[in-house]
Amino acid sequence: MNLILPPSSPTFEFWRKVSIPTFERNCGLRFSKVGFGEKRPLERNWPKRPYSYSQIRRHREIFVNYGVLCGYGALAVVDADHPDFDRTIQRSLPQTFSVRTGKGGHHYYYHCSGVRKRIVLDRDGVHFGEVQSRGQQVVGPGSVHPNGRIYTPENDRAIAEISVDELSRAVAKFRSPRVRSVPVRKWRTNSGAWNNAIPITDVIDTSRFRRGGGDEIFGANPWHGSASGRNLWINVAKNVGYCFRHQAGISVVKAIALNRKIIADCSDWLTRDQYQMVCNLINSDRWADVSPRGSFRDIGGNVYKS
Ligand SMILES: [Zn+2]
Repeated sequence: MNLILPPSSPTFEFWRKVSIPTFERNCGLRFSKVGFGEKRPLERNWPKRPYSYSQIRRHREIFVNYGVLCGYGALAVVDADHPDFDRTIQRSLPQTFSVRTGKGGHHYYYHCSGVRKRIVLDRDGVHFGEVQSRGQQVVGPGSVHPNGRIYTPENDRAIAEISVDELSRAVAKFRSPRVRSVPVRKWRTNSGAWNNAIPITDVIDTSRFRRGGGDEIFGANPWHGSASGRNLWINVAKNVGYCFRHQAGISVVKAIALNRKIIADCSDWLTRDQYQMVCNLINSDRWADVSPRGSFRDIGGNVYKS
């Protein structure tokens, strides 16, 4: 372990001795040992080695830096890196103990039981911050950032108590909308020659679909629309779709039946006659009736068009 000993500058002399009254009063909080000018704890199993504030003050006399363990005393810390997010937290959550971080953002401390894990706030490629929870720690006030700046206590008042709902509402617009993927067991395996011979993306217009994970793409259901724009999922490799509104699988033949209004809803099952009607349609070469593009290329590379 490479320990840098703190320089004996008056600044560090001051901060290594400073007491944080909020921590002094709050006996539920626990702390970790951090090296001078560092952010990570020195001890390997630090989440399981919680120190009381009086214990950590002895460590600070030498190392200055320390961490505040989240989860203990139901502590959750909102780490606001981005100014928009910072302002929203100040406006929408109660006044609480806060610290200006070495990077220039804020740590807002809350008692919030029920936050079980860290929440990362990334949206449209912008990082706004995090909510640190059980298993995480934040660098404590009075510590030195690797860039030399001090984590400065700003609002040395009691830590406010908030509910998980309050917290969720405050961070909601900085969180990526959850992309709901289709559970693996819901993808059906196709049977029937045409279901496998025609790519499903040739019978459903997916030009405005977006990529989900893996082989999945998603977009608005073309037959009945979508409020969220994401209720039809297609697994390109498995050549099947899934409608979340109807909780129904969509095969190639079913998609053609819906295109031609042979069936009305995604949840309808094709009768034997309806299935035959779709096969006849495909065999009649009336591709414009089958596919939105009027053509398709089958698995063997043959091109079919009107
Ligand atoms: Zn549907």
